[in-house]
Amino acid sequence: MHLVECSNITKIYQSGEVSVKAIQDVSFTVDESSFVAFVGPSGSGKSTLLNMIGCLDPPTSGTLKVAGQNISDMGRSRAAAFRGENIGFVFQDFNLIPVLSVFENIEYPLIMVQNWPKARREKQVNELLEAVGVADQANKFPRQISGGQKQRVAIARALVTNAPLVLADEPTANLDRKSAERIIDLMKKMRDEFGTTFIFSTHDPRVVKNAEIIFTLEDGCLISQEDSKRGNHV
Ligand code: ADP
Ligand code: ADP
Repeated sequence: MHLVECSNITKIYQSGEVSVKAIQDVSFTVDESSFVAFVGPSGSGKSTLLNMIGCLDPPTSGTLKVAGQNISDMGRSRAAAFRGENIGFVFQDFNLIPVLSVFENIEYPLIMVQNWPKARREKQVNELLEAVGVADQANKFPRQISGGQKQRVAIARALVTNAPLVLADEPTANLDRKSAERIIDLMKKMRDEFGTTFIFSTHDPRVVKNAEIIFTLEDGCLISQEDSKRGNHV
C-alpha cells in the first residue's frame, strides 16, 4: 500500500505582492517501510514538501494522502491530531527540550500527545533507548551529550509513538561525517526493525547514497526518481 500519495501538488507562498512557487505540480508515491531521500540545492523546495507531508502546511493545490487519509484540506485541529498519531519529526537542530533528561525527552510525546499510562511509557522509552544506543545516557541532559547522541535521542522521540512515518529535514546537517553516516545507518536499522517509513531531505552526497529511493527537486519541480531496487524513472 502507498503510505504517501502526492498528486499534482503545488505550493505558492504569497506575501503581499510577491508570490513564490515553491513546489510545482509534483506527483509521487512512497510505499510502506521505504527509506527515501529528497535531494536538491538550497531553495529547491525540500522543506516545503516535508512540511506539507507532515501536515504542518497545506498545499495550494493538488491532493496529498498519508495512510489513506486526504490531508490536503484538513483543518488545523484535525491535522494536529492526525500528525500526533501518524507522523514523527526529526529536526536538523535536534529540538530537544533542555530542561528534560534524555529519558524525559523521549517520553514527552507519550504524555503530551497520547496519554499512555506510566508503566507502558517506561517500557516503550526503555526499548527505544536500547534500540538507538543511548540507554547509558538516559538520565543526562541534552547539554551533556554529543551532537550524534542528541540526534539519536531525537530519532527515538520520533519513533516513540509508533508512528508509521518519520520525516527528517536535513537530519545530518549539524553532524560530522562519521556521526552523519551512523545516523543514516540507525534510521535504516529502525526501518528494518519497526517497518517505519523514513523520508528525509539532504544535500549531503554521502548521505544520499544510502537511500533506497532518491527524489531530486530543482526549482520546485521533481526532476528525477531513482529506485535502487527497481531501476531509474523520470
Ligand atoms: P529547501 O528546503 O530545498 O532549501 P524550501 O522549501 O525551504 O527549499 O524553499 C523553497 C522556496 O520557497 C524558496 O524559494 C524559499 O525562499 C521559498 N520559501 C520557503 N518558505 C517560505 C515562506 N514561509 N514564505 C515565502 N517563501 C518561502
Ligand atoms: P531550509 O531548507 O530553507 O534551510 P529549514 O530546513 O531550516 O529550511 O526548515 C525551516 C524550519 O522548519 C526548520 O528549522 C525546522 O525546525 C522546521 N520544520 C518544519 N517542518 C519540518 C519537518 N517536517 N521536518 C523537519 N523540520 C521541519
